[in-house]
Amino acid sequence: MKACIVAVGTEMLTPLRVDTNSLFITERLNEIGIDVRLKLIVGDDVEELAELLRAALAWADVIVMTGGLGPTEDDITRAGVARVLELPLAVDESIVDRIRERFMRRGLTMPEINRRQAMVPRGATVLPNPNGTAPGLWMEQGGTAIVLLPGPPREMKPMFDIVVRERLAARTKGAGLFRRVLRITGRTESDVDAHAQPIYGKWTSQAVPITTTILAVLGQIELHVTAHAPCRAEADAALDRAVAELRDGLGDSLYSVDGRPLEAVVGDLLRSNGLTLAVAESCTGGLLASRLTDVPGSSDYLDRGVVCYSNRAKIESLGLAERLIEEHGAVSEPVARAMAEAIRAQANVDVGVGITGIAGPGGGTLQKPVGTVAIAVVGHGEARVRTFQFIGGRDQVKFQATQAALNMLRLMLKSQSGR
Ligand code: ATP
Repeated sequence: MKACIVAVGTEMLTPLRVDTNSLFITERLNEIGIDVRLKLIVGDDVEELAELLRAALAWADVIVMTGGLGPTEDDITRAGVARVLELPLAVDESIVDRIRERFMRRGLTMPEINRRQAMVPRGATVLPNPNGTAPGLWMEQGGTAIVLLPGPPREMKPMFDIVVRERLAARTKGAGLFRRVLRITGRTESDVDAHAQPIYGKWTSQAVPITTTILAVLGQIELHVTAHAPCRAEADAALDRAVAELRDGLGDSLYSVDGRPLEAVVGDLLRSNGLTLAVAESCTGGLLASRLTDVPGSSDYLDRGVVCYSNRAKIESLGLAERLIEEHGAVSEPVARAMAEAIRAQANVDVGVGITGIAGPGGGTLQKPVGTVAIAVVGHGEARVRTFQFIGGRDQVKFQATQAALNMLRLMLKSQSGR
């Protein structure tokens, strides 16, 4: 089944507002096997809305529209849809009563203008909205289901989950698109594809076809592996086999097969090994500690993070020798290692991490250009130290540095727990 999602609202054609409803709706439609083929944003203009609705009706099995169901002149969705379907609009008094009650509960009188929200095209099914005044509407025309939902996400999302999902799922009879997100770090997109393509290339023609999309995101590569299956059990079986094959082909660089971020994967490894961690950061300014603490329950393993940006801070807060910094420079492997060792000893934890680098845009030299970052991970009887050369602006260098540090930590924890 093919779907078209339409966001109605002139504000989303400005740089000030983004259509996020369609991301949620796409995810939900995919889960029940409906493929989203087109997403549109249209301003508050009845003619334009009517025109694109006519075009979508020609091919889509499902059209989901959000927004423009409010009480004001510029809320044109009902009128546009009724015009295309050639259905008269009439006020449904039971909806008016419900809206009036909502106002009364807040001690207010319903303005007359809100009667517009009770206008229903003949034959449409009214979808209740527990969190707002505008009800949704469900209509059908020539085999296409047309669903109108209010724009505010806090109203639209529960309505979709409670009433729309079931109705649409009944049409797909359990068949669906079932997706897994695999995450890889420490390799380039082309290198990942060179290893993965020979594996996933053959899946498109199997009994349960699987399509794969490769996506380069900052500091990592994602593989979106999607099975087109008659039911979840068949999809899961095919996806389990697919993921196992990719795991063999990609080895250690594949860190997540369920969409978990790297900081969560590292957190789980620390917890399951009963280890504690402390970090000393210079150029990342606390971003590593911030990412680690984004994970609920991180206090189980993270003891502390220290930001020692200046040389003086490295000497005063970590006790680094001034001579070491003078001899090697603040951005160097010996300094990164000394930072990791110092924070580990100071916090009395199992693992210490040190990061020192040049985030830019200034501060680079010929020997150490912007993007040079030295990272050390020190654990029991083992130290891993590496220098990276990242590209991109300041934010990108900082993020990639934390990603590399987390990955070094992950690989050390994995090798230690495998011993
Ligand atoms: P209401 O009865 O609240 O007016 P409505 O259906 O008329 O509901 P709109 O007036 O179009 O909805 O939008 C209300 C608000 O909902 C917008 O200001 C915006 O913040 C949010 N919104 C609308 N459409 C979207 C969308 N596609 N993605 C994310 N937010 C949206």
